[in-house]
Amino acid sequence: MRRDPKPLRRSGRPRGAALAGLLAAGLACSRSAPPPRGPDVVLVTVESLRTDSVGAYGGASPGRPEVPITPNLDAFASGATVYEDAHSVTSWTLASHASLFTGLYPSGHQTTGPLDRLDDSVPTLAEVLAARGYQTAGVVSGPYLRRTHNLSQGFEVYDQEAASITSRLAHADVTNPAMLVALERVLDRDRDPERPLFLFAYFWDPHFDYLPPPPWSTAFVPPGAEPFDARDLDANPAIHAGMDAQRLAWLRAQYAGEIRWTDEHLGRFFELLRQHGLWDDALVIVTADHGEAFFDHGGKGHKNGLYAEEVHVPLFVKYPGQGEGRRDARLASLVDVLPTVLEAVGVAPDFPVHGRSLRAPDPDPERAVLFELETSRFTAGAAGVVRASRTFWQAIRRGEWKLVEWRDEGPGAAGPGRRLFRVTEDPAEAVDLADREPQRRDALERALAAAVGAARADGQRYRRGGEAQLSAEEIERLRALGYFAPAAEP
Ligand SMILES: [Zn+2]
Repeated sequence: MRRDPKPLRRSGRPRGAALAGLLAAGLACSRSAPPPRGPDVVLVTVESLRTDSVGAYGGASPGRPEVPITPNLDAFASGATVYEDAHSVTSWTLASHASLFTGLYPSGHQTTGPLDRLDDSVPTLAEVLAARGYQTAGVVSGPYLRRTHNLSQGFEVYDQEAASITSRLAHADVTNPAMLVALERVLDRDRDPERPLFLFAYFWDPHFDYLPPPPWSTAFVPPGAEPFDARDLDANPAIHAGMDAQRLAWLRAQYAGEIRWTDEHLGRFFELLRQHGLWDDALVIVTADHGEAFFDHGGKGHKNGLYAEEVHVPLFVKYPGQGEGRRDARLASLVDVLPTVLEAVGVAPDFPVHGRSLRAPDPDPERAVLFELETSRFTAGAAGVVRASRTFWQAIRRGEWKLVEWRDEGPGAAGPGRRLFRVTEDPAEAVDLADREPQRRDALERALAAAVGAARADGQRYRRGGEAQLSAEEIERLRALGYFAPAAEP
């Protein structure tokens, strides 16, 4: 039996004698002279990227595994550290990026609903780096990263031109070329060579609808696959758990095509970084905000639950000066990115952080990572009234085990429920062991409750951000698109 659960480590302060010495040296310097110039930092997120769709993780497109799906990411991985057991904190864009930027689980940053705004009181990576003398620049192409949700705080330059105002509009977006133009503009026009650069880039295109251009629209299509109209994926009645296998094969080939097309643009972006001297000595991190489901546990797209296909993410870190590829099998989470960057820069955070530096020298086999998700469903009732029900998901991963729990609220609520997986033997999380392993299940349940409680307690330091507010110009654009017409009967 495992020993009693302990709460997650809540301080992100890096530990270890060598590091402490380094930090002390940095602090000593800061009293007399400006701190030494930190490394340039590049942080890249790719939308909806399943780890088993990345070559460096042994992934491929199921229909055409012989066609390389991420050759540029794989080349990058050959000179970087690949975190094999890395996870998002949730399965949707806004809460995931908020955790990436704050080092806090969702209960800590409290940006958990689709209209939420990250409060100004929560410290972000960009703010800390700006205070350390960095020029901070963000280039984004998805709606949740627009200024509306305030994840832009701390960025001196913030380009959101490629991002549609609403999620629904964004499904039809094709943004990779615009991303490259905007990134090149930042590097050519906006960059201040006197200061180290923190550059954040968010590539939207793998998000559904999957709309890869030729040749990638056909490159991954296996023999016999049946093309069909797959637009409006989340509401499309032709796309469901019992759908025809030949159509599903075609859909997956389109998703693969989007990834390959995005990978091409990542390759060009990496080349741009090299041309601008932002490579050899830079800290370059590439990850995904979450994965994507193809009915692995019954759902499509993402924000369905906290199972592996939606939360296991690729995570690559090229440390300054690193030239050789490494693999790191330790458990990692997106909340680790902020403390990792701050360690590389030589800053100890003076606020709570739920993650730990990925370079922490003491791998902790009892480390646990947390996942949280809140979803809403709207259904038409008998009198034509739209009713909402909400599902709260929580999960914890520790060692070989992962516990997933959910409870529903509102009309037609089902549950609660829970599932326990031995992920080392069952990485797809297919076999529920909750009834066969009651002691492990109960121990993880206690650990999960403690971790959520600790995350919430840290969140008490900050205000909840309130509702995202559209600008007058955004409202006008939506009005022109018919968004504020009287609602139709549901
Ligand atoms: Zn996303």
